[in-house]
Amino acid sequence: MTDNADIINHLRNVRRGAMFIFEAPSGTGKSTVIKELMKSDSNLKFSVSVTTRTPREGEKDGVDYFYITDEQYDEYLKQGAFYEYVDSQYGSRYGTLKSEVDSFINVGQDVVFDMDWMGLRQMKEKAPDDIVSIYMLPPSIKEVRRRLIDRQTDSIETINKRMNLLRDKMSHWNEYDYVVVNVDVAQTVETIKEIISAERMKRVRQTGLADFVKKLDDEAKGNEA
Ligand code: 5GP
Repeated sequence: MTDNADIINHLRNVRRGAMFIFEAPSGTGKSTVIKELMKSDSNLKFSVSVTTRTPREGEKDGVDYFYITDEQYDEYLKQGAFYEYVDSQYGSRYGTLKSEVDSFINVGQDVVFDMDWMGLRQMKEKAPDDIVSIYMLPPSIKEVRRRLIDRQTDSIETINKRMNLLRDKMSHWNEYDYVVVNVDVAQTVETIKEIISAERMKRVRQTGLADFVKKLDDEAKGNEA
């Protein structure tokens, strides 16, 4: 029989990945938290969405989003290539490509999504057992405005638009499995790491368990007096 460390390793590898879906009102710090999580855990893969909006400063094609034209978006729609998609309230369109997700989940890698509540609803319908949803809230509205102004990526007009949409966005907080108030990024990251660890131990995700328990059972049979 393999030694105990090998068993733990084997069970860790033979598993079904989870889909961690993050959402938060603009200015809550969601992107920063997601980036920190990805840095510290190589088993987390970011689901790169497509969008028709233009890249913000610092964003990279293929890393933050795949930046596509309306014509390309329509083509994906026609092909049925999306897991979920949403024509956004901001005037831009977003979508998750099936090809981005399934290849990871099936080999036990967890996928991180940055998507809104409409996307979550579609994903929940398609893959209810795979979804873990996490909503982040800001400590105050004053702080949100300060963060949006400080990041200097949006015009005052866009900031005002985002502020107006905030209450509508926030009203969906109770559709999520976990809710974390982001006061301090480091603390929030630690809290979310705990959520991820616990979710990885869920029985439905440990697909190697049935074989393992069978082996234990065979061994127990052999040990009967
Ligand atoms: P932003 O333009 O600020 O990056 O994102 C605007 C909104 O679109 C955010 O609420 C974000 O979560 C959402 N979003 C980004 N990618 C996707 C996606 O693939 N699907 C859905 N449904 N929403 C997305």
